[in-house]
Amino acid sequence: MSDYFRHTKIIATLGPATESKEMLAKLITAGVDILRLNMAHASHQWVKDAMWFIREASSEVGRHVAVMMDVKGPEIRTGVVDSPIEVKTGDRFEFHIESATATGDVPAVSVNYPGLPNDLEVGTTVLVDSGIIRMRVFEKDDSRVRCEVLTPGKIGSKRHLNLPGVYVNLPSLTKKDEDDLAAGVEVGIDFVALSFVRQAEDIRILRRYLDKLGSSAKIIAKIEDQAGVRNMEEIIREADGVMVARGDLGIEIDYHKLPLVQTDLVHACQAEGKPVIIATHLLETMIHSPMPTRAEISDISNAIREQADAIMLSGETTTGAYPLESVQVMKNIIQSIEPSVGGDINRKIKLHEPKAKMLRSAAVLAQELGKSGIVVFTRSGFLAYVLGALRARGVPIYAFTDVQPIFRQLLLPWGVEPFLIKFSDDPEQTILDALDYLKRKKWVDPGTWLVVITNALANDKIVDTLQLREVE
Ligand code: PGA
Ligand code: MN
Repeated sequence: MSDYFRHTKIIATLGPATESKEMLAKLITAGVDILRLNMAHASHQWVKDAMWFIREASSEVGRHVAVMMDVKGPEIRTGVVDSPIEVKTGDRFEFHIESATATGDVPAVSVNYPGLPNDLEVGTTVLVDSGIIRMRVFEKDDSRVRCEVLTPGKIGSKRHLNLPGVYVNLPSLTKKDEDDLAAGVEVGIDFVALSFVRQAEDIRILRRYLDKLGSSAKIIAKIEDQAGVRNMEEIIREADGVMVARGDLGIEIDYHKLPLVQTDLVHACQAEGKPVIIATHLLETMIHSPMPTRAEISDISNAIREQADAIMLSGETTTGAYPLESVQVMKNIIQSIEPSVGGDINRKIKLHEPKAKMLRSAAVLAQELGKSGIVVFTRSGFLAYVLGALRARGVPIYAFTDVQPIFRQLLLPWGVEPFLIKFSDDPEQTILDALDYLKRKKWVDPGTWLVVITNALANDKIVDTLQLREVE
């Protein structure tokens, strides 16, 4: 079997440390399955250039990779300051909307959201810069909010504000998101990750917008605040996948409950058969250090044991000093831990149609055969997504499609290895072509028994079949 096979997928965020064609080629060779473009810091020209380099690097090394555009949604940021403002415990600090000026008697910074004073109450907690600086509102008017500083720190430019438990009246998809998406769709993004998803309707709004742009990109709901956690069931049903966005989530909820919420989200996704990504701080110290901490190794192992579909790198690969090493560390941990994970088939998943139920039997059969695999032919990707969700450990899912965008979308689900081929009019020929391809590329050896899911013609009727085939 090829070196590349893993059940757990790796996502890396692109940034200055990784955006050159040479570095991209190295990352793809090392095993990155999906590259994330974070639109908090990116221009449309950058998106265009990045996509060009990604596709070039990918064809150079002969290994495919999908692209996920991460749009920022209802995110609040502070304005630009000349130099960082130091605040101490007990200090007063003011946030004012951009159209107003600072009162002038206390340090102040603007915010990019005019509705902020309206959405906050006296007593609300305001967290600045990923939760580092904690404040409490003690006074407000229509254009200003005054806070008392509870935890000291320095406030630089364009810092992120978190307002735990506050429903921010910003649209789920902002004008900036729409513009970013238009630029992304033009260059062919495969996934869209939407930040701060609070309800299923947020996903429907994005889906309608993507339809209007003519894009079939799959939608990943980033769960990162209390409303998202509360409404996880309806969000998961509507989205194509979920990201456990622990960076913000760990600030918006009680930090000590984060592992519980992570597990709830993983289980809820597995019950719906939707992919789930664990994101943020998996190898945070590797931004500066060539080696992970023991705690980070354990955190990644936990995600693998929970059978998340993918684990994600952020700062480690955007500005970190060891981006390639970070990917290798993830791969090493995956390779050590995966074989120890229990082989039970996912029993939580609800399978409705007979064909979906047949997939469960295919997974059981392939496990029973040992050293096997499942070959599936799919035009929508649905069958391969369900097979991934069944979590048949030790069973690679070789998913063949003849649809280019679907091909790359199959890089996300657990254990799915996609292939793009032409389908013949004769289903038997398509099977032979696929088996031959797997053998030539050394995914399987002669003598291997594979489980094949396909359509067959029986007395002029197309029927679903599950077949056993030996590779010759
Ligand atoms: P971000 O999302 O990196 O875009 O903030 C992920 C997270 O919050 O964990
Ligand atoms: Mn976030």
